[in-house]
Amino acid sequence: MYFHPLHSPDSSLIGYLLADLDEQEAVVIDPPPRQTELILALLTERSLRLCHVLRTHVHRVDAADCSALCDCTSAQLVVGEAAALPQGCSREAVRVAHGTRLVFGNEVVRVLSTPGHTPGCLSYLWRDRLFCGDAFDVGSCCAGDGEADPGALFDTLTRRLFTLPEQTLVFPAHPIKGRHVATLGELRARYAPRLQQSRDGFITDMMQRRPRATTPRIAAPAAGS
Ligand SMILES: [Zn+2]
Repeated sequence: MYFHPLHSPDSSLIGYLLADLDEQEAVVIDPPPRQTELILALLTERSLRLCHVLRTHVHRVDAADCSALCDCTSAQLVVGEAAALPQGCSREAVRVAHGTRLVFGNEVVRVLSTPGHTPGCLSYLWRDRLFCGDAFDVGSCCAGDGEADPGALFDTLTRRLFTLPEQTLVFPAHPIKGRHVATLGELRARYAPRLQQSRDGFITDMMQRRPRATTPRIAAPAAGS
């Protein structure tokens, strides 16, 4: 097992490189801009083949193009079914649905559909670790303004993410209140007051916290996890 966070101080984005060292295969989740050379060096250092470049979400104004990394490694770009592609992206993406299993070496990443921050958001579950993009990062990812759907986020949190074990380690795309990892149990306790209210109350609360957001689309209740 190999796990290497990729922190980009200039953008505050955090990516993650995961690998099976025995089979020498790897995936990278949300590679930050301008870190392609570092990622290629890490792959070379361990003689790893990059199988997939996984994006939790892509914003309309997203400039984190992964084309160079995919071109250098022949890795497949993976995004959600409803996700846009990064600006300038020249690669065809594989669009994956909830429940898809992505394999690298003897390791498996399970895809969770977790819309809310954007309509096409995905989370990736690997072992005891959840890579959830900005699902818990309400307010600090400005790029999400106007793309967020508070009702869908309520469903994602209550019916999907908070059904995972309390000990699950959550790794976000931006630090959460300055931290780079939290347990799902900690986040559940933090979110409890907001999630104990009704779905409509949560939507109103989010709209008040994000006054620049547009009127939410009221999504149909999500299917079971
Ligand atoms: Zn975001």
